[in-house]
Amino acid sequence: MSLLGPVEVRALAEKLNIRPTKKLGQNFVIDGGTVRRIVRVAGVTPEDVAIEIGPGLGSLTLALLPEVAKVVAVEIDPVLAGQLPFTVATMAPELADRLTVVHADALRIGPADLHADPTVLVANLPYNVSVPVVLHLLEALPSLRRGLVMVQAEVADRLAARPGSKIYGVPSVKAAWYADVRRAGPVGRNVFWPAPNVDSGLVSFVRRDPPKTSAPREEVFEVVDAAFAQRRKTLRAALASWAGTAAAAEAALVAAEVDPSARGEQLGVEDFARIAEHRLTSCPPSA
Ligand code: SAM
Repeated sequence: MSLLGPVEVRALAEKLNIRPTKKLGQNFVIDGGTVRRIVRVAGVTPEDVAIEIGPGLGSLTLALLPEVAKVVAVEIDPVLAGQLPFTVATMAPELADRLTVVHADALRIGPADLHADPTVLVANLPYNVSVPVVLHLLEALPSLRRGLVMVQAEVADRLAARPGSKIYGVPSVKAAWYADVRRAGPVGRNVFWPAPNVDSGLVSFVRRDPPKTSAPREEVFEVVDAAFAQRRKTLRAALASWAGTAAAAEAALVAAEVDPSARGEQLGVEDFARIAEHRLTSCPPSA
């Protein structure tokens, strides 16, 4: 299977008159070893339906197609989305019928846009929207069981961080609501064109059941946002406006068996779920 190297990537970009934009996080992989590694670490099987966000010129798509039943590639850039079927038809004609290209914003897609039920996310994500994309897909696509994504190294660390770590924060807790998330290796800058000015990293996730709680996910996420908006403060203080008053926050925390003088960075997603649940019972809406 031939893959896109530096020469092919530049030739395609020139032919299409593409100037990679920062706004769309357009850094294309020019190294066959990197895309093969991503596919290998993703552990895809011939039964998998893969969703790829931001296929760009097709570097990763071409490595993915031989290994899965189907690839649904979602690309926001109309020129790139229009070209991808032709690139695959030229470089891997025997696999062309496995590819569906969807020209759309990944932050707005749902199952009805995909004409398939993806089981695995494999992507070199646009870095400016990588966290919202991962969270949106986990929420919107119940068929998605696992994934392997390339993101900015710092974001990889944040997504996979555990309670108690300095970089543990909103992305870590929200991702943990849906999945078990782990770092899956570093990636250097020179595998891209143009080379980004940050290092990259691989992150893998496996979906798991969300915490058992009567509080809706949106309400749990509200507590998470409030706790980390003032992460240096104790939860009693940080959650005061969320609960109405510091006393109401303290009551919800005590009812949830969380120390009111703790900070958000010490809590797991289950703790946040319990706090959200106890806001309802501890702070009934005033008449
Ligand atoms: N997968 C390709 C590769 O590895 O060479 C390109 C990856 S590049 C980092 C990110 C890609 O995501 C670009 O092709 C960009 O146009 C696309 N993109 C950016 N924002 C997007 C969005 N909201 N929805 C879908 N695609 C997006």
